[in-house]
Amino acid sequence: MGGGRVKFTVLTLFPDIVEAFFTSSIMAKAVERGLIEYELINIRDFAQDKHRTCDDSPYGGGAGMVLKAEPLAAALDSVGGLDKKVVFPTPSGVPYTQKKAEEYAELDEIVLICGRYEGIDQRIIDLYVDDEVTIGDYVLSSGEVSSLVLIDSVYRLCSGVITQESLEEESFQDNLLEYPHYTRPEVFRGLAVPEILRGGHHAKIEEWRHEKRIEKTKKNRPDLWDLNKSIEKSGGY
Ligand code: SAM
Repeated sequence: MGGGRVKFTVLTLFPDIVEAFFTSSIMAKAVERGLIEYELINIRDFAQDKHRTCDDSPYGGGAGMVLKAEPLAAALDSVGGLDKKVVFPTPSGVPYTQKKAEEYAELDEIVLICGRYEGIDQRIIDLYVDDEVTIGDYVLSSGEVSSLVLIDSVYRLCSGVITQESLEEESFQDNLLEYPHYTRPEVFRGLAVPEILRGGHHAKIEEWRHEKRIEKTKKNRPDLWDLNKSIEKSGGY
């Protein structure tokens, strides 16, 4: 579980999209209880012409527009970006994983840049960005959505946001997926809750759940299962 409180600083052209997440549900409660802090920076406030332009056509030609360096740099300077962990979610980043979420949950502050259009001027990446991460092999139209994926995966690991018990044996711990869950009713459309879960024998339930985790991992994520086997071969975690 993450250490203290984490601050998310989000640079975006559409603060309303991001604000909705921070003011709803479990996140709203975490903010209210002082467990999570956030600051939204509207990149457009740092545009340097009277039309508040933030994008321009790419050098070398090609379709689409690129987020300009100057407003982004000014926005990053306003939050001390050079001295902070700056993350840019982008399809061309390294794969984002649960391990990375755990790492980020230990930080005091993460600065996220929400890309748009074709992306951002490379010089912002060269000068300010520590991590370029992708949330999957597909292309979204907005960095707000991918930044929120990161935020969601990190804040729930922070101390006090949700119970420690809920975080145990989740998917990806020990490179295994999660076991199946059931709640009332006992029989639904002819499908009964497995008897072992109704028996109350704790050790047997644990064993059953572990088996189910292995079964599901083999079926849905053979890549994770292979990783598990190779870790085992090399002498464990
Ligand atoms: N031209 C870019 C490319 O081909 O890699 C795609 C830009 S995309 C239309 C606009 C923005 O959405 C990106 O700058 C990024 O912030 C965000 N985005 C899209 N797909 C993403 C992904 N798989 N992971 C993280 N961010 C993504």
